[in-house]
Amino acid sequence: QAKAAGRNTLCFFDPAMQAAANARSAMNADLHEALGLGQFELHYQVQMNEQRQPIGAETLLRWRHPHQGMVSPASFIALAEDTGLIVPLGNWVLETACRQLATWSKHPELAQLSLAVNVSARQFRQLSFTDQVQQLLVSTGAPASKLKLELTESTLIEDADAVVQRMEELQALGIRFSLDDFGTGYSSLAYLKRLPLTQLKIDQSFVRDLLTDHNDAAIVKTIIALGNSLGLDVIAEGVETEAQLAFLAEHGCRQYQGYLFGKPVPVAAFEALLMTLNTHRSPAKSCLHGHDAE
Ligand code: C2E
Ligand code: MG
Ligand code: MG
Ligand code: MG
Repeated sequence: QAKAAGRNTLCFFDPAMQAAANARSAMNADLHEALGLGQFELHYQVQMNEQRQPIGAETLLRWRHPHQGMVSPASFIALAEDTGLIVPLGNWVLETACRQLATWSKHPELAQLSLAVNVSARQFRQLSFTDQVQQLLVSTGAPASKLKLELTESTLIEDADAVVQRMEELQALGIRFSLDDFGTGYSSLAYLKRLPLTQLKIDQSFVRDLLTDHNDAAIVKTIIALGNSLGLDVIAEGVETEAQLAFLAEHGCRQYQGYLFGKPVPVAAFEALLMTLNTHRSPAKSCLHGHDAE
């Protein structure tokens, strides 16, 4: 067909597109094997409060590809969504995260940490999702109150009633919700107020140029004000500099995540980081405990 169209017309089957399609199907084949071969791992990125104390972590999925090294989720999550692999993969992520939470819950220095897990739209829409999560909590012994599910606006936009109902079921188990990448999607404010959220997460694309781009600064200030007036925690992602941190804190954002505090790292490195953060904070910590008790 492409041939018949002649020399001077655009050919759909050009070599670059063919190569991209081949790469995609090769990655797809590898992706399907990867779960069984144990090539996925979770990395953990610390989240901090205003007193620069660690309050939790976000799990970020990594694929240790035999030939390509560590592959970022940006290059395979969408593919896994398209093929449906995201369902077993997402379950693996949740189970691994719950096991980690259960382990931390027995450790005095780590027991207070919450763990945020990214959940994709297709995974969240499974009819059995609530049951699966409930079973995972039971089988792993993870404290539900420490589990936070990160949803994006794209998850929430379809079939609002069903989504709200599912969120309420999970909330009844003690699970909390954060709205990830907030401001980059299409959710309406009317919708936002119906959702049982506890946290808004400011997308890193607004944080990056906060200090030089007055539009970004305005958006960030507005999100913080909105979150605070709705009674939600507001966390900023992609915090890389002290100056960004200072701006965020000054405008009422009280939780932060970003390279300034730590990159996503394997669990052993994460726990080591936590120990150093806790040791360096001990004087402030005791004073804060008193404050918390009020
Ligand atoms: P996200 O959930 O918005 O995660 C934040 C991304 O920002 C992560 O990229 C993290 O490594 C990166 N990041 C954190 N701090 C900084 C910083 O200070 N500067 C910069 N430049 N980047 C920072 P990552 O790990 O590549 O993940 C990309 C996306 O893949 C995530 O975005 C999330 O949407 C998705 N993802 C990751 N893990 C999972 C998972 O287990 N399940 C699902 N469904 N999606 C996942
Ligand atoms: Mg996230
Ligand atoms: Mg995010
Ligand atoms: Mg993001």
